[in-house]
Amino acid sequence: MIHEIQIRVKLKEARRADILKIKASQRLGIHTKEINAVKVLRKSIDARKPSIVFNYKIAVYINEQVPETECNFKYQDVSNAKEIHIVGFGPAGMYAALRSIELGYKPIVLERGKKVRDRRRDLKAINQFHIVDEDSNYCFGEGGAGTFSDGKLYTRSLKRGDVRRIFENLVYHGASEQILIDAHPHIGTNKLPRIVQSIRETILKYGGEIHFESRVVDFIIKKQSLKAIRLQNGSEMPVEKLILATGHSARDIYYLLHKKDSLLEAKSFAMGVRVEHPQHIIDSIQYHCSTQRDELLPAAAYSLVQQVNNRGVYSFCMCPGGFIVPAATANGEVVVNGMSPSNRSSKFANSGMVVEINVNQDLPKYDHFGVLKGLEFQKDLEKLAFNAGGKSQAAPAQRLTDFVEGRFSTTLNETSYQPGLKSATLHSLLPKIIGGRLRKGFAAFGEKMNGFYTAEANVIGVESRTSSPVKIPRNENLEHPEIKGLYPCGEGGGYAGGIVSAAMDGERCIEAAIKSY
Ligand SMILES: Cc1cc2nc3c(=O)[nH]c(=O)nc-3n(C[C@H](O)[C@H](O)[C@H](O)COP(=O)(O)OP(=O)(O)OC[C@H]3O[C@@H](n4cnc5c(N)ncnc54)[C@H](O)[C@@H]3O)c2cc1C
Repeated sequence: MIHEIQIRVKLKEARRADILKIKASQRLGIHTKEINAVKVLRKSIDARKPSIVFNYKIAVYINEQVPETECNFKYQDVSNAKEIHIVGFGPAGMYAALRSIELGYKPIVLERGKKVRDRRRDLKAINQFHIVDEDSNYCFGEGGAGTFSDGKLYTRSLKRGDVRRIFENLVYHGASEQILIDAHPHIGTNKLPRIVQSIRETILKYGGEIHFESRVVDFIIKKQSLKAIRLQNGSEMPVEKLILATGHSARDIYYLLHKKDSLLEAKSFAMGVRVEHPQHIIDSIQYHCSTQRDELLPAAAYSLVQQVNNRGVYSFCMCPGGFIVPAATANGEVVVNGMSPSNRSSKFANSGMVVEINVNQDLPKYDHFGVLKGLEFQKDLEKLAFNAGGKSQAAPAQRLTDFVEGRFSTTLNETSYQPGLKSATLHSLLPKIIGGRLRKGFAAFGEKMNGFYTAEANVIGVESRTSSPVKIPRNENLEHPEIKGLYPCGEGGGYAGGIVSAAMDGERCIEAAIKSY
């Protein structure tokens, strides 16, 4: 017999190895000896009150064995199957390719960047020598922006079945089963490259093709139908159906479509800065402790939101125990983002702090750029950060209190950001629609989380790539309305905002493309 029950375990009880069995026996009114095993189905932490509690959903096995967790996918040999093309090997492209193999079609993937191992060298060049390779960086290369990301697997998607499929596929490719349990699943930047590599091996094993260092630079369109793609080396490749999963940093793709007069739409997005605190400050606020957090508790996270002058100001991609990384995709720009290892062991907590930009109302000076106005605004802010940081990958920064109170910081706090920081008056450099709202937002966050508003935190600029400022439209068949055979997909199309939603969109697009054969 299997009973599914919810139990609560106080932090001070959690040290007992057999606590779940004991609680289950009490709840079910049976002896612990009658319980064969307890399997955790869901786990979350309730730290709202000083007495911290772990909430569990568990399956209690009485006279039954626990079945193995099965994450099986029916991949088939597609070496000689009909081909389907995918541009971009980020989460959207990877999941499109895997799904294509399940459905019996041969994926041919074109990726501008390098394999994960070779990509590491280019990341070192950014961090140490401030040189950005425009095809291989934190956003471009095998696994896309998802590889050296934080690997938080949160999504606002309500389609739990689809989300579970995405998670099971990650487990199939080496992720811990823990992601199937945690309320806030996280893989960690140290584990992601191995998983991405394993996805590549599956695709190749079953007959798919992946071409690295193959940037697509042109679409050959005849009579509103996509006929071929041109690569940077000048070669042409005929295509019938193409999943365009190039991510929102591939600005050349937006420019290319714009030049061809293809339908694009300006999209609202969000921009701001990253704020970095010592992790122990966030722990002490969230876990109500004056000393170090209990060893059973993970590095604490937060999620903040505030309306300021009719726009949302909110935390984004919070990375407890993490690092801030240089996520620029070209020289001459500074972009920051965050990541953390699986054990979230760094002594810093960082988070994007961004302001909603309404593309129709907030950027009148950029109106002459038409549908690309958000993109041009984003670029200008990244250039501004580059100049303010001293024209390298060093990022402009200010103490949080100085930013809000409008002072230059004579010294800055220690940081996890490897290329280094340069003190700059971000409060006056950022456009008012962002800087002004952030200052009010930070002050409000200090009221909500006592201790958050502190001179021990740095504000670091700029967090500009939260989501795409351009949408590539698609019709009810997920095809571009003016280019038959082109399927805009994932974050670059404007249809995803993170690893899981991009992966789900990859599956959705390839299914739609295959259905139309
Ligand atoms: C540092 C960092 C941390 C992040 N942390 C998280 C997190 O914790 N959780 C989360 O959900 N999300 C996170 N994200 C965001 C997440 O990585 C993206 O939302 C996701 O990767 C988008 O997937 P995608 O497949 O749509 O696009 P991308 O991942 O951007 O992939 C696009 C791919 O297309 C390739 N490409 C671009 N142009 C061309 C071309 N012309 N020809 C051929 N190939 C091309 C690129 O090289 C790239 O590999 C993070 C991002 C960064 C940078």
